[in-house]
This record gives sequence, C-alpha cells and structure tokens, in this order.
Amino acid sequence: MKIKVLLVIALFTYGCANKSSKPEPKSDWAIALHGGAGNILPEDYTQEQQDAYTHELGCALEIGKKILSDGGTSLDAVEHVVRYLEDCPLFNAGKGAVFTHDGKNELDAAIMDGNGLRAGAVAGVRDIKNPISTARLVMDKSEHVFMVGKGASLFAKSQGAEIVDSTYFYTEKSWKSLQRALDKESVKDKKMGTVGCVALDKSGNLAAATSTGGMTNKRYGRVGDVPIIGSGTYANNNTCAVSATGHGEFFIRYTVSHDISALIEYKGLSLVDAAHQVVNVKLEKAGGKGGIIAVDKHGNMALTMNTPGMFRAFASSKGEQKIAIFKE
Ligand code: ASP
Repeated sequence: MKIKVLLVIALFTYGCANKSSKPEPKSDWAIALHGGAGNILPEDYTQEQQDAYTHELGCALEIGKKILSDGGTSLDAVEHVVRYLEDCPLFNAGKGAVFTHDGKNELDAAIMDGNGLRAGAVAGVRDIKNPISTARLVMDKSEHVFMVGKGASLFAKSQGAEIVDSTYFYTEKSWKSLQRALDKESVKDKKMGTVGCVALDKSGNLAAATSTGGMTNKRYGRVGDVPIIGSGTYANNNTCAVSATGHGEFFIRYTVSHDISALIEYKGLSLVDAAHQVVNVKLEKAGGKGGIIAVDKHGNMALTMNTPGMFRAFASSKGEQKIAIFKE
C-alpha cells in the first residue's frame, strides 16, 4: 500500500506516465485543489507558516471531499472549495487578493461545467466578496459567459451576491508585496498566487473553478488567464478539468488548460502525459512559470508544476490523499 501511494505521488510530482502499469480502477469521485504556484522555497517559510498553509488546504479539501462523497455535484464542490480559499487571507484570491500598481484590487474568476461545456467568468471586479460565486451566477443565471468590471458588479448585486467595501481586501502581506514590487518596478520574479479546484463527481461530471487577485503590481485593467476559458480554467466531460496558476500572460498565449484537454482528445495522451507536455515541455521552453491541477473522467489526477512549489492537495474515493507545498 505504502509503495503504491509513493508511486502515485511520484507520478504527480514529476508528471511522468507509467504506461506499462495496468489501468487503475476508476474513482467514484476525485478532487484536487491549489493555492498558487511560484518560487515557493522551504527557506522562505517558517514551520508555523507551512503548518498554517497545510491546515487551510486541508480544510478546503475536506469541504470538497464531503460534498463529493455525499453524492453532491463537482460544480458545487469546486465552487465551495474556492469560496473557502477566497475567504482565507493566506491566498491571492478574494480576501487575500494582491494589489495593482495603483494600490487597488481587481479580481478575476471562472467556473466551468464539463457537462455541456457551460461556463461563467468575471474579470476586474473590485467589490465582490466571492468572485467565484458570481462567475457561477453568470453561468447559471445569465445568457452570457464573461462579464467584467462594473457590469459584473451590478449583475452580482442584482443576484444578491455579497458586495464589500474595497478596504475588505486589505491585507498587510499583499500591501507589503506591492511595495517590494514597486521598488523593483516588476511583476516578475515573485511568488504567484491564485486558488483553484477541479473535481469529478459520482455522476461522472467534471468541473473546474479558479479565482485570483492576479499579479502584484499589474496595471489597471490587466486581465490574466484565470477567467479566460481554455487558458486558466477548462472542463470537458470527454477529457478533463483543469485549473491553472502562474504567469498569466503565458497561460493565455499557450491556452494551457485547453491544450491539455486537446492532447487527450485528439492525440489520446494520458492526463499526466498531457499535463507534462504542456507545463514541463512547452511552457518551460517558453519561459512561462506556473502549474496546473487536473482530473480526468476516470478520476486520474495530475498536479504538475515547473516552479519550485505549488500549494496543493488532492483526494479520491480510492483513498488517495495528500497535501503538499514544495516540489518533491
Ligand atoms: N495566473 C494568475 C494571473 O496571471 C496569477 C497566478 O496564478 O499567480 O492572473
């Protein structure tokens, strides 16, 4: 058992496929989540900080596990997990969102239902407490897929979503991070954020959700990959569900999430091989730093990164479970 678990962990970490092994039995349900990838190194985090992140990732995982094991939908699981992470100040989404160059917060989020390719997204919102739930409202209650700025906020308000004052998003951590970035006048070379979740439910439906404050010191109006369907977020019941984190401009240009799905759909690659090809080969070569979490229709999962770390966790009905921060 221990050897099997270690093998599973090794596959996730290095993104290598073991083509010769017998197919694993299908999972009834599976879930993976992330709290951002980047230059996350053990020496930069005290044990206390690592424990705090591990604790929050664990709490988020339990929310998703409970929904899925009780027979709930993957859509509900990914929305509620991401909502929890949005409310946690440790992560760059919702409450913990980073600051723009002008000292404001502009949040992006998207959700996708692999059943019927339905999707909803918001970008550049400044007063919505939980952008992921507004993305879901856009999907469920509007005729649209993508709403931005003021229009998205007005829509959220009309649907009863919680609106907050801009001071809600202040955290010392994000403010200091902006000051450091302003000193260097750069959005590069820093830890990245974003939260996301992908899930397969007992009915065989896949879903993905991602939410972010974007990148520290980004310019007014900059939108990253997260709300762009096929870049930072994608789900298709025929292939997989993907949520990304990293340098958004690269993830947009390389349509990372859809590319992984397309490699499965058109080339027949396994999920782990497809994720490896896109993140560790294509993106790495281009200089695009980040990672993805993904689950396929069989419940196979990939948590693949080309950075030293990614806050992440996964679990399945087969008893697999792990929470990790650094690359192993
Ligand atoms: N991908 C996000 C963006 O570019 C940032 C991140 O994941 O850290 O907005």
